[in-house]
Amino acid sequence: MMFKDVIGQDRIKQLLIRNVGQQRTGHAQLFLGNEDTGALPLAVAFARFIQCRNRGAEDACGSCSSCIKLDKLAHPDLHFFFPSAPNQEHKKDVSSKLFMNNWRELLLENPYFTYFQWLQKLGVENKQAIINAEDCNDIIRNLGMKSYESPYRVVVIYMLEKLFYAAAPKLLKVLEEPPENTLFLMVSENKERILNTILSRTQIQKLPLPGEEDVYKALTGRYGIEPVRAKQIAFLSGGRITEALKLCHHDEEQLADFASFREWMRYCYTRDVARILKWVDQTVQAGREKQKSFFQYGLKIFRLCLLQNYQLEQLIRLEGEEQDFIQKFATVVNHRNTLQIVEAFNEAILHLERNANPRILFTDLSLQMHKMMQAGS
Ligand SMILES: [Zn+2]
Repeated sequence: MMFKDVIGQDRIKQLLIRNVGQQRTGHAQLFLGNEDTGALPLAVAFARFIQCRNRGAEDACGSCSSCIKLDKLAHPDLHFFFPSAPNQEHKKDVSSKLFMNNWRELLLENPYFTYFQWLQKLGVENKQAIINAEDCNDIIRNLGMKSYESPYRVVVIYMLEKLFYAAAPKLLKVLEEPPENTLFLMVSENKERILNTILSRTQIQKLPLPGEEDVYKALTGRYGIEPVRAKQIAFLSGGRITEALKLCHHDEEQLADFASFREWMRYCYTRDVARILKWVDQTVQAGREKQKSFFQYGLKIFRLCLLQNYQLEQLIRLEGEEQDFIQKFATVVNHRNTLQIVEAFNEAILHLERNANPRILFTDLSLQMHKMMQAGS
């Protein structure tokens, strides 16, 4: 991963490069943004730039001994920490170091992965993964040793908001009294879930979504999609690269979400309790994270219904059956009930996070949905 492989973010790249030139790089940087912004790829590209032996004005060289090790993400002065949870292979006392191979594999295969894809990679998609105290001990142990090869040691922490609260004081102490020549590059999607004491020790770079033009360039360049299709996908994705890559692969998961959601809404509308219960039975088989992402899909559909009702159809980036569905569904999901529905879905996500029983949750929400749709029709 080099700066040139990071989609868009030209302003931040320039800023980081300038800071290095002027020796003004803060020892703890927080890249704030979701997977579509490329916060993680940017952190990795910056780590390479810092460690490159022969860096140019705009990017690492790509061929020095340091860059060659970074091609495999195996540089002795680059350390990764990320959320993990016990899985089939490692059943207890887990920490990042046990999963380094999974991490390298996923990051090398697709640096624009989602958090859910990371959990899938570990086989823990229905568990809550955390960065735990043992990770913080490892950070401290690493910092106690001399750096091997580069003047700088870089510690990349992915999803800082998943830092276990009891482990936070350890990290805070390191950030407060940073060892020399150590750079912390932290990535987070949600600043609100990070302790203020930690935030106040970091230089925050808030990353915007890349534009459609940037996504188009990446699709035609890095991903080799032919220009006409790339233009269409860049538009449909609204500048979201993970969405664009899904569309490139005709993502089956999204189609399944759509089919399942449409079915569910039909049963809710007609208050077909027998079918609702059967549907719930099937749906709860999927893990908790999958259920959450299904609710997120529902929220997207409700937003689109609003756009449809406000005659902003040009902002709806869907094709085929999904688009037809929105046109009809928007007649029962409209200004009279959308707020209430969105609130109910957000609440359901929150309850899932707090380990509510999904069977009861989905059944209850189905009956609520029936009432709320009645209010809209
Ligand atoms: Zn290099």
